[in-house]
Amino acid sequence: MPIEENLLQIKSQLPDNVTLVAVSKTKPIEDLMEAYHAGQRIFGENKIQEMTEKWQQMPKDIEWHMIGHVQSNKVKYMIPYVKLIHGVDSLKLLKEINRQAVRWRKNINCLLQIHIAEEETKFGLDENELEELLNSDEFKGMTNIKVIGLMGMATFTDNQEQIKKEFQYLKSIFDKYKSLNTTNCQLNTLSTGMSGDYQLAIDCGSTMVRIGSSIFGNRN
Ligand SMILES: *Cc1c(COP(=O)(O)O)cnc(C)c1O
Repeated sequence: MPIEENLLQIKSQLPDNVTLVAVSKTKPIEDLMEAYHAGQRIFGENKIQEMTEKWQQMPKDIEWHMIGHVQSNKVKYMIPYVKLIHGVDSLKLLKEINRQAVRWRKNINCLLQIHIAEEETKFGLDENELEELLNSDEFKGMTNIKVIGLMGMATFTDNQEQIKKEFQYLKSIFDKYKSLNTTNCQLNTLSTGMSGDYQLAIDCGSTMVRIGSSIFGNRN
C-alpha cells in the first residue's frame, strides 16, 4: 500500500499554514501506523468507540480529532484524550462537552459546524444560529471549552462552481466573526476540504483539510 507515498505527495502540495488531518475511519491500525511512521501525527475519526480503541493501541503523541457527528451521551468517553472536536452544531452539545471537560479538569478545543451544503442531511448551524450561540450568556459562561474555528462540508457534487460558492460563503462567515475575541472564542481555524475538494477549499481560505481516501485508499 502506498500510504506513505500518498501522504508525502499530499503534504508537499499543502501551504505551510494548512494542517492535514489524516482521516483514518474504518482503517486498521497497521495503515495508521504506516502514516505515523511517515510523520503523520494528526488523525481524524468519526466514531468515538473506534477512536478510543485506536487511541489505546497507538503512540501517545498522536492528536485525535473527532470529525463526525457527536451524540451528547458519548462525549464523556473521548474527553480524556480528544484534541479537537470538529462537528459541534448545537449549544446543547457544547454544554455537555463543557460539563465533561470540567469534570476531567481539561480544556477542550471545538469547531462549530456550519451548514453550507444544499443537502438537508448535512449537519450544522446556519448563520443566525451561530450568532445566537456566540452571543448567549450560557456560551459565554462556559469555562472549559474554546471555540477555535469553524467547519463545513460542501455539497456532494461535481459542480466545482457550487462547491466554491459554499466554501466562499463559509469563509465570509469566518472572516466576520474572526475579530470576536472573547475568552472562549477565538477563530483561527477553518476546517474545510476532503479528498475530492481540498485544493479548492485551500483556494477559498481553508486552514485545515480532512483527507481520508486519497491517503488510505477507498473505504468499503
Ligand atoms: C470521511 C470524512 C472525511 C474524509 O473524506 P475523504 O473523501 O475520504 O477524504 C472528511 N471529513 C469528514 C467529516 C468525514 O466524515
